[in-house]
Amino acid sequence: MRLIIAEFGQETNTFTPNRLDFQAFSGGGWKKKETILENFRHTGTYLGGAIDEAEREAARSGEPIELLPLDSVTVTGGAPMSRECFDYAVGHFLDDVRTYCKEADGMFFAEHGGGGAEGIEDLEVYLLKEIRKITGPEFPIVSSLDMHACITEEFCALTDGLFVIKEFPHSDMADAAAMAMRSLVRTVRTGFRPVMTVVNLPLILPNTTTCTTVEPMKSVKEHFAQVSREKGFIDCSLVQGYSANDQYWSGTSVLILSDRKEEETAKELALYFWKRRKEFDPHPVSAKEAVNMAETFPGPGYALIHETTDNPGSGCPGDGTHLLRELIERNLPGSVFAMIFDPETAEQAWEAGTGALISVRLGGKCTDRCGEPLELHDVRVLALSDGEFVFRGSWRTGAKATIGRSALLRYKNTEIVVSSILDQTFDDGPLRIFGRKPEDYRIVAIKSAGHFRGYYESRAGKIIPCETPGLRSSDLRSYPYVNIRRPVYPLDPDTEFSGEA
Ligand SMILES: [Zn+2]
Repeated sequence: MRLIIAEFGQETNTFTPNRLDFQAFSGGGWKKKETILENFRHTGTYLGGAIDEAEREAARSGEPIELLPLDSVTVTGGAPMSRECFDYAVGHFLDDVRTYCKEADGMFFAEHGGGGAEGIEDLEVYLLKEIRKITGPEFPIVSSLDMHACITEEFCALTDGLFVIKEFPHSDMADAAAMAMRSLVRTVRTGFRPVMTVVNLPLILPNTTTCTTVEPMKSVKEHFAQVSREKGFIDCSLVQGYSANDQYWSGTSVLILSDRKEEETAKELALYFWKRRKEFDPHPVSAKEAVNMAETFPGPGYALIHETTDNPGSGCPGDGTHLLRELIERNLPGSVFAMIFDPETAEQAWEAGTGALISVRLGGKCTDRCGEPLELHDVRVLALSDGEFVFRGSWRTGAKATIGRSALLRYKNTEIVVSSILDQTFDDGPLRIFGRKPEDYRIVAIKSAGHFRGYYESRAGKIIPCETPGLRSSDLRSYPYVNIRRPVYPLDPDTEFSGEA
């Protein structure tokens, strides 16, 4: 058996004014096909989960499975691809599909599900339609998906199975991919294709109240898992959707994979979640309130403040200064900001060298909404790093990561990590590269909405979410939606829903 494995996708924030070129979209370029098996095997990634499962399955059955990786782009979040980037990246990807699908029996395709590009509303449906033009309708294709995905009937019809992760932070990418790979092998061997039932709820969710490791989403996840077990489904998901992607079908959905249509149960699950929708209404905390809470936290351990509204994982610029400004003005001993994106300042620190004193114009360069640049003098360059580390939280565990040439600065009592590649903070990597650890501080401030919990939840003494003016507000009524269908909760508070698809 010969199976293509590939990854291409992105969580796209359509409200940001930015457009990504290929370097920014791909996080530095293609993951080249020759390197994929070696670099991703045994990692907590979609590609890793697919590779490991194919190798386990081959060992179990004695039937060799040859994997044919394509040049891939690993899933991340961000602004839409520019049209130029889209044409290049999609063109190259489809050329690869064209070359390798002739030799293959099926395709494992890790997608995100919440993707778009300049002029393309639904990236996944576009890609799959193009792939189907090459492979025809019978060629088995299964996808693993992020839970921040937009599921439609059309999307389902283009594949032979969509397998969605269940955890936010996304600690189960490899599990979803393994399930998808198992299903693909079964389809190739027996011709069996799971039947998908989807119900779209008129409901969009913020990303600040929806982590599955804590209530209220924890018990929702457990309820879905219990129903799935009792009914003997192949898979069953509450798909959260991605509210910063303004497309017609954006929003929450229920997706069941079974050997038949499961309309009744899908409707019951949709109504169960609909009744709980108000539990996810946000209660935002300002930068000042967050720092107050951190300052008065008696321990043990450190307080962690996460700025959700400038989360690079949600397509935000990552150079916003609102929370950092508050921290600097308060000048609290033992505080660190890890991290802010500012390639110019990182480069300036590298030129000055370790130990130098510099004047900086830090952050605030992308959009006024995220705060003005910080004009700071007598800033000490404490340490420099090439920014490379290995993820060790639950996000892509064991995979390589980089934040580019970076600097650890100190201004009065506040230490600041400055990166030159845009990303959110998932674990202690941005401190570890400088020989620091979170436990060295009383207050650790980062930019992330949920994924940091995969490392910090069990380690921080207290976790404090913080909302500053930014591009990922939890008040969804503040976004200028144009494309999404109406009515939809909470944009239209009186929206009604009967459970019908
Ligand atoms: Zn996600």
